[in-house]
Amino acid sequence: MHTWNRKKIAIVGGGPGGLTLARLLQQQGADVTVYERDRNREARVQGSALDLHETSGLAALDAAGLMDQFWAKHRPDLNQLRLTDHNGTILHDHARSISGAGKRPEIERGPLRDLLLDSLADGTVHWDHKLESASSLGEQVELRFANGITVHADLAVGCDGANSRLRALVTPVRPRYVGVTLVEGLVPEAKEAVPELWTLLDDAALMALGGERTLGMGTKPDGSILFYAGIRSEAPDSKQQIEQADTAEKRVAWFRSHFAGWSTRWEPLLAKASSLIWRPLTVCPTDQRWPSQPHVTLIGDAAHVMPPYAGEGVNMAMLDALVLSQCLRNEQDIAHAIGAYEAEMFARMQHMTHDTMLNTEMFYAPDAADRVVRLFQSFRRTTSTPEAVQH
Ligand SMILES: Cc1cc2nc3c(=O)[nH]c(=O)nc-3n(C[C@H](O)[C@H](O)[C@H](O)COP(=O)(O)OP(=O)(O)OC[C@H]3O[C@@H](n4cnc5c(N)ncnc54)[C@H](O)[C@@H]3O)c2cc1C
Repeated sequence: MHTWNRKKIAIVGGGPGGLTLARLLQQQGADVTVYERDRNREARVQGSALDLHETSGLAALDAAGLMDQFWAKHRPDLNQLRLTDHNGTILHDHARSISGAGKRPEIERGPLRDLLLDSLADGTVHWDHKLESASSLGEQVELRFANGITVHADLAVGCDGANSRLRALVTPVRPRYVGVTLVEGLVPEAKEAVPELWTLLDDAALMALGGERTLGMGTKPDGSILFYAGIRSEAPDSKQQIEQADTAEKRVAWFRSHFAGWSTRWEPLLAKASSLIWRPLTVCPTDQRWPSQPHVTLIGDAAHVMPPYAGEGVNMAMLDALVLSQCLRNEQDIAHAIGAYEAEMFARMQHMTHDTMLNTEMFYAPDAADRVVRLFQSFRRTTSTPEAVQH
């Protein structure tokens, strides 16, 4: 069994993966610091709600002793997924399991981050630390941050998401664009702003499919609707064109040109969105491997980003944290722990990435609506469900 012996652990990135790891390692008595680029804790955490799975995300929270905090903050109201065609005709309503065997309860990203932050010792997270570059220095790793601070660590774990800066220390291979770009938008006070769509949603998450396009949406606790308009395109559509569409007319024009043949009923979403964010989807190679390094490794999206069409990204990030923490506890030293963790992670993610890419093809197929409905109907007869970007 390994003893920590004043080893310094630097976790780069305070997302769900990094914070879960920090908590699990502090439980073991390790000296952990999280370096996060956000300016402070109040920086807004955006994005869809996340469903956590029993054998991964929930298992990590359980090991971290945080299940009570999770149940106090989860969203029991997110218990239905509605599938429609491009006109909004309802094709299938799917009840989600939020309790019992195979449960997949949902939680907003902000409350998940809060409960993990609250579980850490004071001063664990160093805010406003954006990693710029890193290098291996014999027995240690040197981390250089945009604020001018440089630190040294005995173990550096890259939890800095899809555009990880630490990844370059372990592999030159970058994630590749998968041929799908999402445009994320938020409609505040949605009941008044888009009443017809509010009624169509009816407290469900909704996914409209057709013609190699997807439109996913869901309500937030503050009464807004978060939506994702997904298009298949060879090269990522123009970030400037999307994010600089600063009037309702320009946003609706973007939608019409990219969602030809879709009903006009969706257009108020674009017209009333407070802003649009461009998100080209990327994936790491299914069969990726790298020679294990003695003092640096990656977890979560930094290690294996993939499209969100299996609802596994956050679950895998938290499971990575659990597996790495167990290896660090059980192996004789940090280098052996990294080797054992990466062997498990590579094998697990090879299957997961492969399946996720099949799902991505299905969601953007010309006959996606039929295929996805059939898939969800088949899951109705079992206990588990693939979740995707519907919120
Ligand atoms: C539209 C969409 C919908 C999704 N839906 C789901 C879903 O339903 N279920 C699911 O399981 N997954 C979903 N995912 C995937 C999920 O969001 C990610 O897999 C998950 O957030 C990965 O967690 P992480 O901690 O590895 O990285 P992240 O959540 O990306 O966190 C990275 C952290 O590192 C910080 N950071 C980044 N760069 C630096 C730097 N240079 N220096 C310091 N800090 C840095 C960031 O500010 C952030 O706090 C979705 C993804 C998208 C894009």
